[in-house]
Amino acid sequence: MKKLKIIHSLKFRLFLLIVIIGILPGFVLRFGILTSYENRAVANRSIDILSQAKMLGSQVVTYNYMADSSVEIINAQLEQLSNIYDGRVLIINNRFQIVKDTYGLDTGKTIISEEVVKSFQGEEINKYDAQNRYIELALPLNNKESQEALGVMLVSVSTDSIMMNYDYLKKNAQVIEMASAVLILALALFCSRHLVQPFRKLTKSLEEIQTEDEEDKLMISDYTETEAISDAFNEMLGRMRVIDESRQEFVSNVSHELKTPLTSMKVLADSLLGQEDVPAELYKEFMSDIAEEIERENKIINDLLSLVKMDKSAGSLNISAVNVNEMLELIMKRVRPIAEKQNIELVLESFRPVSAEIDEVKLSLALTNLVENAIKYNKPDGWVHVSLNADHKFFFVRVEDSGIGIPEEALEHIYERFFRADKSHSREIGGTGLGLAITRNAVLMHRGAIKAHSKEGEGTIFTVRIPLTYIA
Ligand code: ADP
Repeated sequence: MKKLKIIHSLKFRLFLLIVIIGILPGFVLRFGILTSYENRAVANRSIDILSQAKMLGSQVVTYNYMADSSVEIINAQLEQLSNIYDGRVLIINNRFQIVKDTYGLDTGKTIISEEVVKSFQGEEINKYDAQNRYIELALPLNNKESQEALGVMLVSVSTDSIMMNYDYLKKNAQVIEMASAVLILALALFCSRHLVQPFRKLTKSLEEIQTEDEEDKLMISDYTETEAISDAFNEMLGRMRVIDESRQEFVSNVSHELKTPLTSMKVLADSLLGQEDVPAELYKEFMSDIAEEIERENKIINDLLSLVKMDKSAGSLNISAVNVNEMLELIMKRVRPIAEKQNIELVLESFRPVSAEIDEVKLSLALTNLVENAIKYNKPDGWVHVSLNADHKFFFVRVEDSGIGIPEEALEHIYERFFRADKSHSREIGGTGLGLAITRNAVLMHRGAIKAHSKEGEGTIFTVRIPLTYIA
C-alpha cells in the first residue's frame, strides 16, 4: 500500500521524469556516436588501403611479380604496406599459388577461397569483419592491355587500433555518463522536492486553518494552480462561515423566541403561587393567559417545522396538477372569518382558469401567509384584493391591501427569519416572524419569484410568479 502511494505521488513522478529525460539522451548519444565513429573509421581505413593496394597492384603487374617474386623493389613495398597497416599481404598467381606472403607462412601453398575466385573473375572485394576485427581486400591483378587475369592481391588488415580508440572513447563516455547520472539524480531529487513544495505548503496551511478559528485566508501563490486552489478554497470557506453564522443566529433566535412565552408563563404561575387565597376569577384569568402563551409557543414550533421542511431539497416537493382558482378560493374561505372579525373586505378576482404543476400543500401555506398578513397588518374597515392571472409560462398571484404598509428600510429584511417590521404590533397579533420566510422558501422551491411593493400608511402589494409546469 505504501509502495503504491509513492508511485502516485507527484514528487516521485517528477523525480522519475527528470531522471529519464536527463539520462536517456546520454545513452542514445553515446551509442549513436560510437557506432558512427566505428563505421567512419573503418570506411576511411578501407579507402586508404584500397588506394595503396591499387597502386602497388599495378606495379606488381608491371614487374611481372607473379613470375618472379624476387623483385626487390616490390618486396620492399609489400613489406612497407603490411607494416604500416599492421596487415598481411598475399600475392597469388593464376594457378592459385601464393607467390608472396608478407608473414612468410604460406608462400608456395595453394589457396582457393571464395574471395580469390571472385577476384579472378574481375571483382574487387572489400569486406569488414567486425567480430574478428579486420578488413579484407581482394584486388584482381590484370594485364593492362589484354585484361587477362594474372593473379590476385589479398590484403587483410587488423582494425585493432580503431577498436582501441573505440574502447577508449567508450570508457570516457561511460565515465562522463556516470558522473552526469549522479548529478542528474541529485538534481532530480532537489527539483522534485522543490517543485512540490508549494503543495506541501498548501496542505499545511489548510490544516492550520482547520485547527485555528481565526478569520484567516489561504493564499499560496507560488503557482497559478495553487493560487486557483487557494481562491476556490477561500470562496468555499467564506460560504461556510456565512452558513455557520446564520445557523448560530438562527439557533439563538429560536431559543429567544421560544423562551419569551415560557418566561411569561413562569411569571404568571409564580405570581399565582406567591399569593395566598387567590380568588377563582384571578386563577381563571391567569390560566387563560398561560393557555394563550402555550398556544403561541405551539405556533412558533409549527412554523419552525414548516420552515425546516421547506429548507429541504426541492426533491421533497409533492408535485401534481392543481386547479389554482379552486386552491385560492379555499384559502379565501379559510381566512374569511379572521377578516370579518376586523371588518375587512376580502375579494378574489380570477382573470382566467389556471391549472399548474405545484405542491398544493406548500404553496397553499405560502399564499395563506400572504393573505393572512394582508389582513393582520390592515386598518379597521380596510380591504384585501387577491387576483390570479397567467400567461403561457407562469401564473401570477397578487395580494394587495389597504394596510399600514412596510417602511422602506424594512422591506429588504421582511423575508428573514424572525424579522418583524413592527415588533410590538406583530407580537400583539400573534406573529412569529417566520411567515414570509416560509412563503419565500416555498416560492423558490417552485422556481418562482416573489416581490413586495409598499408605501407606509397606504398599503402593500405582494406579487408571486410561479411556472405553470414544474422543472426539476
Ligand atoms: P409575522 O409572523 O410577524 O407576520 P412575517 O414573516 O409574516 O412575520 O412578516 C414579517 C414582517 O413583515 C411582519 O412582522 C410585518 O412587520 C411585515 N409585514 C408582512 N406583511 C405585511 C403587510 N401585508 N403589511 C404590512 N407589513 C407586513
